[in-house]
Amino acid sequence: MADYYETLGVDRNASDADIKKAYRKLSRKYHPDIAGPEFEDKFKEVNNAYEVLSNPDKRRMYDSGVDPNDPNAGAGGFSGGFGDMNDVFSTFFGSAFGGGAQGPVPRTQPGRDALASASIDLRTAVFGGTAHVKINTFSLCQDCGGSGAQGGAQPVTCPDCHGRGFMQKVVRTMLGQMMTSAPCERCEGHGTIIKNPCPSCMGHGRVRSTRNVGVTVPAGISDNARLRLANQGEVGEGGGAAGDLYIDIRIRADKQFTRDGDDLHCWIQVPMSWAILGHDLDIDTFDGKQTVSIPAGCQPEDTVTLKGLGVTNIRNNEERGDLIAHVNVMVPTKLSDDERSLIEQFAASHDAGASHVSQASRPQNSTQKKGFFSKLKDALS
Ligand SMILES: [Zn+2]
Ligand SMILES: [Zn+2]
Repeated sequence: MADYYETLGVDRNASDADIKKAYRKLSRKYHPDIAGPEFEDKFKEVNNAYEVLSNPDKRRMYDSGVDPNDPNAGAGGFSGGFGDMNDVFSTFFGSAFGGGAQGPVPRTQPGRDALASASIDLRTAVFGGTAHVKINTFSLCQDCGGSGAQGGAQPVTCPDCHGRGFMQKVVRTMLGQMMTSAPCERCEGHGTIIKNPCPSCMGHGRVRSTRNVGVTVPAGISDNARLRLANQGEVGEGGGAAGDLYIDIRIRADKQFTRDGDDLHCWIQVPMSWAILGHDLDIDTFDGKQTVSIPAGCQPEDTVTLKGLGVTNIRNNEERGDLIAHVNVMVPTKLSDDERSLIEQFAASHDAGASHVSQASRPQNSTQKKGFFSKLKDALS
């Protein structure tokens, strides 16, 4: 037999309020929309446990050693002649413990959490901003305000069960006549009936609707971060309090910049002559045009760092990462006759006396600086 107390993480003397509290916490934690489909079974377990422990009759039955969720419960000795086991147990325990704990099932139930995702551009991640998401979920029925009754009417006491939500009847058993109780069929156990259900929500107090939600995105947010908006989720049955809305943030790839933590990287192509002689050039950044100074003698894969032009630090908004420009030196492939002769002159003067080629088993970088990708590879290995 499953240990429902353990499933909910409460002890055997837990009050109804404790059980409800534990259930709310766990059902949010394991909700497949939030935790992922692999938690579906865990979510069901939690619901099964709550179904039993939240119902005074079922809980008594469970405490006596019979699992009300088990279709074969009691098959050992009680089957045959009794019919509905629930009736029999509520008969035994209802009379033995005085009953009375059974009550109407509230019409209003808390709403579930909802999950959505929003995509933002890299600029929004750098500086923060607003993300917009369209969600389709249950919202409060505006026509009845959640009551489910037409024209502002309130549900009225059920004339069959007089508000108790259950009916008592006498059954014959082999032990003699006994009183048993079952949920009232007319009001489905609510103890109240809605005479004229609201036509907009068919008496449910809530309707499905699509709405746009704007969510504030903090500067420095990382890809796949999850934001929570309290009470923006699904409105419950009977207009019950809304659950929370969770929004997963995805950052779209940018054409010009790659993000690595709080740093941004970009690649700039410069002519060979700029790398040799040095050159200042303007590049586009999230902070507008900025000047990059290519130093004379710049090597392929060298980087130029623009301090403080990266992503805002999520914990300290005063701090920002750097923008790192990777220099890609372009070697000309087509030369005019004049250019060729100039390069030949250069070679004759500069490379004169270079009699042999330096050879090594691995790349030798004069500056010993590692490129971004090899650093990234080191970090991941
Ligand atoms: Zn309505
Ligand atoms: Zn009733």
